[in-house]
Amino acid sequence: MTEQFPALHADWRPDNGKHKGQVTKVLLHTTEGSTVSGAQGVYNSRGRIHPHVTYDPRQRYGVQHVSVHKASFSIKSRRLPWPHSFNRDGVFQIEIVGYASKTPVMPNEWYEALVLDVLDPLFDLAPAIQWWHFARFVGSSGYGTRAAQRFGMATWLAFNGVVGHQHAPAPNSHWDPGAIRVSTLAAAIVDVREPEPIPPDPIPPPEEDDMTPAQEAKLDRVLAIVDDDDYGNKALLDTMTKKFRAVFEKLNRLLDHFNLSRN
Ligand SMILES: [Zn+2]
Repeated sequence: MTEQFPALHADWRPDNGKHKGQVTKVLLHTTEGSTVSGAQGVYNSRGRIHPHVTYDPRQRYGVQHVSVHKASFSIKSRRLPWPHSFNRDGVFQIEIVGYASKTPVMPNEWYEALVLDVLDPLFDLAPAIQWWHFARFVGSSGYGTRAAQRFGMATWLAFNGVVGHQHAPAPNSHWDPGAIRVSTLAAAIVDVREPEPIPPDPIPPPEEDDMTPAQEAKLDRVLAIVDDDDYGNKALLDTMTKKFRAVFEKLNRLLDHFNLSRN
């Protein structure tokens, strides 16, 4: 069964046989060149060294050479007893067009393009890959068969996730793809694989009601007193004041009359 990644162009080449088990690793390389066609020229001249996919994140252009269900060739496996090959250890290999020394400064958009065009479809086709696991990626200090980040055989076989050529066991010595920004790559993958849930409608703020039951009961008693006594008394007082004032004014007029008549 072959499959074509939707965003990639076909450049089918021979495969390297079946994987020994499920595909559980993504292995990143850098071509140490600047074009897809340059990489294809190297594959043409040197024979079976191609990966599954060669991808140029700057141009957002890539080609697919081998099905995800078969092994490819870009990991060195000489000196291993036939037919063992690191290439068949459930590894999907991507040659990123560019330089190992430059991956730390690749723009975020290039990482995002790699995720959208290659990694996201890959994780659908190879669901056993635990894409949230990343090896520790280093720069040029990673060169050599005995470099500190390079996996031993047991770690290599057990690891499930994203690795680089710099982690493939000896006799591999290359340090590509360099110190890729794992946090940027992981964030881009999460954005596509696990989008933020759509937030629910905003919850209205609670009514202002921070009284304790005891305070509420006390307020009820006060309101009852105002209703029954104070408020009632005030209405009564108003009525009486009006009446008293009317009587007082009448009395004043009478007094004025008497005073006037007395003068
Ligand atoms: Zn490589």
